[in-house]
Amino acid sequence: MAKRKRQGHYCKICGEIKANEKFSGKGHAAHICKSCASLPIERRNELQRINRVERISEKFRLTKEEWELLEKYSKNKKYPELQEYATDVLAHHRQMKEDRKPQIEEVLYSNLEEELKEEIDDHFYDDFLFFMEEKGYAPEEKHFKKISKGIADAYIRYFHLRVIPDDSWEKRMREVLETVVSDLKDMDFELDEN
Ligand SMILES: [Zn+2]
Repeated sequence: MAKRKRQGHYCKICGEIKANEKFSGKGHAAHICKSCASLPIERRNELQRINRVERISEKFRLTKEEWELLEKYSKNKKYPELQEYATDVLAHHRQMKEDRKPQIEEVLYSNLEEELKEEIDDHFYDDFLFFMEEKGYAPEEKHFKKISKGIADAYIRYFHLRVIPDDSWEKRMREVLETVVSDLKDMDFELDEN
């Protein structure tokens, strides 16, 4: 894009900046240099599109319209050179997008370090406490699943860590639940029997 600032005149077909004398009067206004003007219209159309793809190829992030344009051109059988080029640029941008994604590490709950397990205990505790204060009864199987998923999802989102729940995760959840139930009783909180 910076080259546009240089002296001369921009040709929208070949994308080059050329001296003013390389343009005819009419071509000057239309942004088409003399040599491009002499090309067959089909070739001119293809070159103009290739020029567009070239500018997109230099960008770091694409707009929705640019993604769509690349996809469209990569299927364009009418202009094989354009199709091939757009396909390459599309692949390049998809790769860049993929590379920007945070890498998510997977760890089985049992293999987590103690510190992290204790932190997760706190989440179990708070979620159970909040649930029971809200609902007035102990969580059932479906609530267990939801709370479990909510905590695991938070670790993915904030720490890019996928904690895989296993039997000891289940067991730990139930132990923490018992603690919460007993703490609530100590606080004289009335739980409904279900
Ligand atoms: Zn030109």
